Amino acid sequence: MIRMSSVDKHFGSLHVLQDIDLTVPPGQVVVVLGPSGSGKSTLCRAINRLEPIDSGTVEIDGKPLPAEGRALAELRADVGMVFQQFNLFAHKTILENVLLGPIKVRKLDKATAEREATALLERVGIADQAQKYPAQLSGGQQQRAAIARALAMKPKVMLFDEPTSALDPEMVNEVLDVMAGLAAEGMTMLVVTHEMGFARRAAHRVLFMADGRIVEDSTPSRFFEAPESARAQDFLSKIL
Ligand code: ATP
Ligand code: MG
Repeated sequence: MIRMSSVDKHFGSLHVLQDIDLTVPPGQVVVVLGPSGSGKSTLCRAINRLEPIDSGTVEIDGKPLPAEGRALAELRADVGMVFQQFNLFAHKTILENVLLGPIKVRKLDKATAEREATALLERVGIADQAQKYPAQLSGGQQQRAAIARALAMKPKVMLFDEPTSALDPEMVNEVLDVMAGLAAEGMTMLVVTHEMGFARRAAHRVLFMADGRIVEDSTPSRFFEAPESARAQDFLSKIL
């Protein structure tokens, strides 16, 4: 579960998150939409404190996220994050990329970590790529490796910030399918995406952001068929 209460964030004079209250219950899949600059990435980054916030609180499964230090590192392991850029370690194999966190942070022995990592690579459909380096994989394969790496930490929630935006079109679905599978298994997920098909298919809830606020909090069918705000209507008219 994710709970944000009265979260505010400025970049200088720019108020990028304005009094955000958001609770994502366990197993819920939330898609976040909104125009460029509306604060979607900042919202994601505020949840695991990659971005410090000015005020308010963030809780993961009822535990407040501390501002810094070892406690933050531990709690951060509960929050998996996948970005537009895959951020894999270029000089490590795919298997090593997935192994590293579990050995360092979860203190697994190598054999156990390897067994778990191999199972995860199978789950995302790239077990045959385990010994390759990231540059030897397609974008879609690299992003699936990034998802496996995040899952290896056994996160309680997963955040995705435009995970398919950097991919060639023919690779988008292989990543969305993995995400839809995770959603179907009950992972708590917050997904920033422009993939409206995914939002309709996999989301339980759609948030529409504008100017640092959550302007609409709706179901996919209600949001796409009858958006309430002028901002959302304008946004949808441009993309659909
Ligand atoms: P996009 O769809 O383009 O990814 P977004 O909704 O993710 O946009 P954010 O990246 O959260 O938007 O940015 C929100 C606002 O904060 C924007 O006006 C952006 O220019 C500004 N911003 C983001 N990061 C910083 C930063 N590190 N320093 C200053 N301003 C920033
Ligand atoms: Mg963004």
